[in-house]
Amino acid sequence: ETIAGTDFDALLARIADDVQPLVSQGKVASYIPRLAQVPADRFGMAVATLDGRRFSIGDAGTAFSIQSISKVFSLSMALDALGGDLWQRVGREPSGSPYNSLVQLEDERGIPRNPFINAGALVVADVVLSKRRDGLDALLAFIRERAGNADIQVDTDVAESEALAGFRNAALTNFIRSFGNIEQPVEAVLDFYFRQCAIAMSCEDLALAFLHQADGGRCRRTGVQVISPVRARRINSLMLTCGTYDAAGDFAFHVGLPAKSGVGGGIAAVVPGALALAVWSPGLDERGNSLAGTAALARFTELTGWSIF
Ligand code: GLU
Repeated sequence: ETIAGTDFDALLARIADDVQPLVSQGKVASYIPRLAQVPADRFGMAVATLDGRRFSIGDAGTAFSIQSISKVFSLSMALDALGGDLWQRVGREPSGSPYNSLVQLEDERGIPRNPFINAGALVVADVVLSKRRDGLDALLAFIRERAGNADIQVDTDVAESEALAGFRNAALTNFIRSFGNIEQPVEAVLDFYFRQCAIAMSCEDLALAFLHQADGGRCRRTGVQVISPVRARRINSLMLTCGTYDAAGDFAFHVGLPAKSGVGGGIAAVVPGALALAVWSPGLDERGNSLAGTAALARFTELTGWSIF
């Protein structure tokens, strides 16, 4: 199928129909108390193509907690701040352990496996904060600009809720700091991290905010070269290998697109050279990815053939 010749409205309608039985079957994340209150029966999906078209279905306009999807944006900013030196402080290998695991850090002397597990994202947050005091404002500005939506905000209830339950992230940050791989005060890093995770966006926002990742780092809407083509490609490679927790292998097998998921039930994905898309359904599978969302993306590549493989 060609992108130009695709009836996206019909495609999304069919996918939404196909995955409907799975919506509500997953388990809404509850370790962040505020997230547990989100209704399980939501499903939305949005597509933004490089040729400027937008499509959406269901709850694609509803803002939800992007959680770990924010790690892609903060990584772009940290690479901007440190360039390739960032890789002295964070690795690029899938972890094969849960997103909030501490165990590998001991062996690896405080160098997290990759920027998308919590440990890595905390180091990335530290890098952003070391570069700019107003790190969170800068991150929000970056996201608003990419999505073309000035109303995107941090949901402070979610951020506070996570801070109250954030013992493990506090442990990770302290542990990494003990190896010298966190420079800023632990409280400042955690505050930044909880707020970045609590940014609320819709599928429509996310599809637009990821569009430059499909276009060699260029944002067609604004004409800005957001990041270099090489960097865009490398971020896509990290999304493919590390973007969906320790299910990245299965995700590559079934979906075959660079993607980043979050425990809020969102997944943003990229078809390089063609489009960006986002899906949201709060019920998660056992590995923390949206159950209906993953199925919807698998259906998407099955019906279109647009897996990168
Ligand atoms: N804020 C969440 C945490 O650190 C992010 C989890 C996620 O989306 O993977 O636990």
